[in-house]
Amino acid sequence: MTAKENVYPHEINKFGSMAERWWDPQGEFKTLHDINPLRLAFIERYVSLAGQRIVDVGCGGGILTEGLARQGAEALGIDLSADLIDVADLHALESGVNAQYQKISAEALAKQQPGSFDHVTCMEMLEHVPDPGSIISACASLVKPGGMVFFSTLNRKRKAYALAIVAAEHVLRMLPKGTHDYKKFIKPSELSQSARSVGLELQGMVGIEYNPFTQQFSLGKDIDINYIAAFKRAE
Ligand code: SAH
Repeated sequence: MTAKENVYPHEINKFGSMAERWWDPQGEFKTLHDINPLRLAFIERYVSLAGQRIVDVGCGGGILTEGLARQGAEALGIDLSADLIDVADLHALESGVNAQYQKISAEALAKQQPGSFDHVTCMEMLEHVPDPGSIISACASLVKPGGMVFFSTLNRKRKAYALAIVAAEHVLRMLPKGTHDYKKFIKPSELSQSARSVGLELQGMVGIEYNPFTQQFSLGKDIDINYIAAFKRAE
């Protein structure tokens, strides 16, 4: 890894060190398991996945990538953690899901295969990289004209600090301590502007809401904490 790459080695090591527990639905990544059906439902509001070639950027152990593949997509997951790519490969093999994985950066894949994916997903990843704009730009290059790009991230609002860090990491212990750095959270306006500057037009945005009483997630209007957005690359 060179200093020029758009990656924090400590982030890759942090996620990689938990690789073997990625698929434990009650483990550190329980939240990703819990929200996965919601994000698939959001994606399917815009696209029908069957037969579509999709790249999932920052795929981790493949929770979303496998979900996409189960819906019939030809899914490729990419990540810079070799340990997570191994876990993702093994899990797909064990579960008989036809998902492919590769250890490569979004920027490098965009150079190799520009405009060659029907749609792109990049969830809970932008807040973990030095330059999210460079990932957004790479996603815009990867998708075909007219294709959709989906991002989810955390909003840089005090409410997100209180809930995604103080409550989720320290009080409720839903996430490991140190998972998130508030300074790296991204406002919806910043995401939209950055996407627009590379030819991606916002189509819709929803919040991923958590009800602490029922301990259930749902999609809703509150984008103050965690949110998903759909963008379309101009034809
Ligand atoms: N998108 C997955 C995993 C989110 S966790 C999901 O939502 O289910 C964040 C992931 O981003 C980790 O797997 C981490 O290894 C990856 N990541 C961090 N920096 C990255 C980079 N520069 N390039 C690719 N992946 C990166």
